[in-house]
Amino acid sequence: MKLSRILSNQNGISRKQANALIAGGRVKINGQPCRAPAADVDRFSTVMVDQDVVQAGEAEHYLMLNKPAGYLSATVDAQHPTVLELIAPELRHHLHIAGRLDRSSTGLLILTNNGLWSRKLTEPAIKIPKVYRVLTAKPLSPETETRFANGIWFEFEGLTTSPAQLERLGEREARVTIYEGRYHQIKRMFHAVGNRVKALHRERMGEIELDNDLSSGSYRSLTAGEIRSIE
Ligand code: URA
Repeated sequence: MKLSRILSNQNGISRKQANALIAGGRVKINGQPCRAPAADVDRFSTVMVDQDVVQAGEAEHYLMLNKPAGYLSATVDAQHPTVLELIAPELRHHLHIAGRLDRSSTGLLILTNNGLWSRKLTEPAIKIPKVYRVLTAKPLSPETETRFANGIWFEFEGLTTSPAQLERLGEREARVTIYEGRYHQIKRMFHAVGNRVKALHRERMGEIELDNDLSSGSYRSLTAGEIRSIE
């Protein structure tokens, strides 16, 4: 919301008075004076006029969870346990999932209450790499790398996936990097080359790597550096 609007939402402050307070250097955002009435202020920022708090910034939450198989990437479900049930109740209801994993998939899942930030992580146009370790039902065919690199046609969406990289780790094991997060993307890519995914584990999103110290089902807050890496 615009700074002048936040001030003029206060009882008894007109838009004109708000602009005068801002122009007079009496308004601070997160401790820094701001003289721009049109400055965009998010709900996590603290706004003060002199010594009075006009908006107390909400706490930001950014978590990485080592998702176990069997949990749905959803907030509530009548049939299956959800990943939110693995999070402390006092944090749970503020969070959303930044890039879902299928119920059978495991590994890095990021949860946050900052929608602008999570959009940067998941927006296909921004092309953040997502790295998965994959176990397949059949041996990897020789053309798999090239087919993934050329993009796979997805009939349902009517589009070709962005070039993806495949690194062979074994006869039926690979590390795959994609830059989107389409519905069942990796499973559908392997299906298109006549194979099937048996296990899928997300290792990394951008520079945020699943912490080896996190046992399955546990989580930790992201570090300041990990949060910044997405901005
Ligand atoms: N691609 C899939 O098919 N499943 C996931 O959980 C993630 C990526």
